[in-house]
Amino acid sequence: MEFQTKLIHGNWSGDSQTGATNVPIYYSNAFKHGTAKELEDIFAGRELGYVYSRIANPTVEAFEKRIAAVEGGLSALATSSGMSAIYLAVMTILKPNDEIISTSGIFGGTYNLFKHLEDYHISVKILDKLDEEALRSEITDKTKVVFTETIGNPKLDILDIEAAAKVCTEKNVILIVDSTLTTPYLVKPVDYGADIVIHSTSKYLNGNSNAIGGVIIDGGSKKYGDDKFTGFKQYTKRFGKFAFIARLRSEMARDIGAIMSPMNSFLGLIGIETLALRMKTHCENAVKLAGFLDTHAKVTAVNYPLLKNSIYYNIAKKYYAKGAGAIITCRLGSKEKAFNFIDQLRLISNLVNIGDSKTLIVHPASTICADNTLEEKIQMGVYEDLVRISVGIEECNDILEDADQALRKI
Ligand SMILES: *Cc1c(COP(=O)(O)O)cnc(C)c1O
Repeated sequence: MEFQTKLIHGNWSGDSQTGATNVPIYYSNAFKHGTAKELEDIFAGRELGYVYSRIANPTVEAFEKRIAAVEGGLSALATSSGMSAIYLAVMTILKPNDEIISTSGIFGGTYNLFKHLEDYHISVKILDKLDEEALRSEITDKTKVVFTETIGNPKLDILDIEAAAKVCTEKNVILIVDSTLTTPYLVKPVDYGADIVIHSTSKYLNGNSNAIGGVIIDGGSKKYGDDKFTGFKQYTKRFGKFAFIARLRSEMARDIGAIMSPMNSFLGLIGIETLALRMKTHCENAVKLAGFLDTHAKVTAVNYPLLKNSIYYNIAKKYYAKGAGAIITCRLGSKEKAFNFIDQLRLISNLVNIGDSKTLIVHPASTICADNTLEEKIQMGVYEDLVRISVGIEECNDILEDADQALRKI
């Protein structure tokens, strides 16, 4: 089945009871069973069945199966937000005295979460670049996880997934890749050797900005068999390459309970049907807007990986033949001009989000990164005169016209 068809039909063939073509929303906390023995068998893992919606729910499961199919993973778990997906995934693997390596260009919320893990005696090493050389010299015996983004938000640095996966395999470290900005339409990190893929489904997967959610996709890995992965023994023995998702489900997800609701799963299932159509337009509009801004006299610098002057151009060409996402950052010379530009816009909305069908803009330094130090901001590629634009799927001329009329006034 081709990707576009999987988005619509993957792992679902209609409701056998009613013939409903959309996945029904099962708003039920619990599921009753005929005999005590039946429930015992489900708890013991001898039978499949639903028990309680914190553990499994049919609507949520349909969304998880759809995502696993389109991402090319073994299995998936849907969570209450992108942040909880990241937290549950890394905490399934990390224990006190372990180390996680990440990059500076990542989403601010993730950056802050990792800093807070230090309170639990998990050390965090933030690198500016994740190339083979840096990884080889920075991975130590304590390193269990390397976490990064396909395209960093907001730095827009591009990960060479294959190169990172190669070193992580040599060193037996779990590579987790947040693919929120790219989605499986543009790249499937599992195909390049990533062990786990994360999405904030709040963004492009849902596409309509009407439900906060996240998802963790397990690509399946034999690495957990190594003794250094404390607590995995019983899972690798019983579940083989499904060890990670099995442990995630029966420990972290169940303990913390930050799982996706049936309603948000339903909205995700509807949203993902149009992912390919939307991403195509997002990317086409982004290329046009980046080109327009790049030649505009009032714009000091534009960062978009598919601009020929981008330092990521060659790597973007390798991984992102279909487009390098739809986030652009640009600098306007001063904070005042950046604010002025935002205030003059009519169509483009000033708000803290990305991946909506609508074009959005934000001043990261005073909002998402307000709590970070100046040094951290610079590491993240955030400057006082920088704005981040999430290019939507409106008619492109309307986006260009709005940007143009606003730039004229600054
Ligand atoms: C938004 C975002 C997150 C966090 O997702 P929420 O659903 O807002 O919790 C994580 N990673 C990236 C790259 C994001 O853009």
